[in-house]
Amino acid sequence: LLGLEKATVRFGGRAVLDGVDLSVAEHEVVCVLGPSGSGKSTLLRVVAGLQPLDSGRVLLDGRDQAGVPAHQRGVGLMFQDHQLFPQRDVGGNVAFGLRMHGASRGEQESRVRELLDLVGLPGAARRAVAALSGGEQQRVALARALAPRPRLLMLDEPLGQLDRSLRERLVVELRELFGRLGTTVLAVTHDQGEAFALADRVVVMRDGRIAQSGTPLQVWQRPADEFVARFLGFDN
Ligand code: ATP
Ligand code: MG
Repeated sequence: LLGLEKATVRFGGRAVLDGVDLSVAEHEVVCVLGPSGSGKSTLLRVVAGLQPLDSGRVLLDGRDQAGVPAHQRGVGLMFQDHQLFPQRDVGGNVAFGLRMHGASRGEQESRVRELLDLVGLPGAARRAVAALSGGEQQRVALARALAPRPRLLMLDEPLGQLDRSLRERLVVELRELFGRLGTTVLAVTHDQGEAFALADRVVVMRDGRIAQSGTPLQVWQRPADEFVARFLGFDN
């Protein structure tokens, strides 16, 4: 479904993505792990079409995405700080991506209801975003990203601002949801427990490069090098 070939992005002479090769198959859930500043968010922005490449290619279904604008790529991105619109209610937030795709009012309303059921917030369409808990806001952001039925769903620290127990519960729910919908997912986290619970495959990044890619078990049992081992906490 997704292919990156030698994807490179430079900021001020420094390669933030440095020749990244990565492919994601249909229905696969891939989690990108790595320290702060290793290029995880940049990777997602490149695929979403929000960040141009300096060299290399992004392919979706084998087609080069150079020059294809973000809204025509058929990918959904849930941002690190989820960026809900505080002045709109829950339904208005979820419907945002649908309006951009030209859905009628009736279509929007039934799809919003369906999505809110899906993320466990039934009947919440008219609630004010500001009155929701952090976990509820994350669910709204997820519903918004899922709304246009993206062929690839990308999540940047989807559970970032939540406490441990809520994260653990939501990870299980997400895993179940993605399995049921057959969603292809590329998710960023710096929490390895979350990545290992969610992913079919884990990709560990270091300084704009992929240090290791493998199943959670492979990465856990055989870290590729000392950096990965230390990142996973095998430092003593
Ligand atoms: P975090 O875990 O903190 O979210 P990250 O792995 O997502 O980190 P990125 O946001 O991809 O990291 O950033 C990678 C590097 O690129 C960082 O050093 C960052 O400062 C730099 N960077 C990102 N965007 C820009 C920009 N627009 N201009 C200049 N430098 C940038
Ligand atoms: Mg980031």
